[in-house]
Amino acid sequence: MKAFIGLGSNLGDREAMIRMALDDLARLPSTRLVRASSLYDTEAVGDAEQPNFLNAVAQIDTELTARQLLWNLQLVEKRLGRVRAQRWGPRTIDLDLLIYGNLVVEEPDLRVPHPELARRSFVLVPLVELDPLLTHPVTGETLVSLLSSLKTRPPTKCGNRLWN
Ligand code: AMP
Repeated sequence: MKAFIGLGSNLGDREAMIRMALDDLARLPSTRLVRASSLYDTEAVGDAEQPNFLNAVAQIDTELTARQLLWNLQLVEKRLGRVRAQRWGPRTIDLDLLIYGNLVVEEPDLRVPHPELARRSFVLVPLVELDPLLTHPVTGETLVSLLSSLKTRPPTKCGNRLWN
């Protein structure tokens, strides 16, 4: 299954954290890391006092189920020492399952596509960089059109592609 993972870090050496997370994604069972977007520098959602995030999106090809994938993402977050005192607080690494084929899941601990997908330019911009033809699995709108309707400032590209 073709799936997209959002990566974010706003504590410590942000680029090193994203690179380590990509290495871990490349080693997941029954999974191939296909490519990863450029890095984007992004203002923290909600709290301007927080350091900026560095964000990227990875495309994988996986035989894991969406739930198995979520467990594995949480293991990677733990391994990389995510420290989080508050919701939306600073974190060394945050991994979100954004899109899993055209699957739609609405459960308390797993929502796919990611509920914030359509509202976050720091997710939409790297997704469109990887695949300009992607559509939202629920509404069918292209991600390009979702992006053009957002009023938030787009993230600043600040690095080359990390993988392919
Ligand atoms: P966050 O603090 O934003 O990383 O949220 C983590 C929580 O969101 C975890 O308890 C997950 O079970 C839940 N969650 C629900 N849907 C998703 C998703 N698509 N990707 C990652 N976490 C999810």
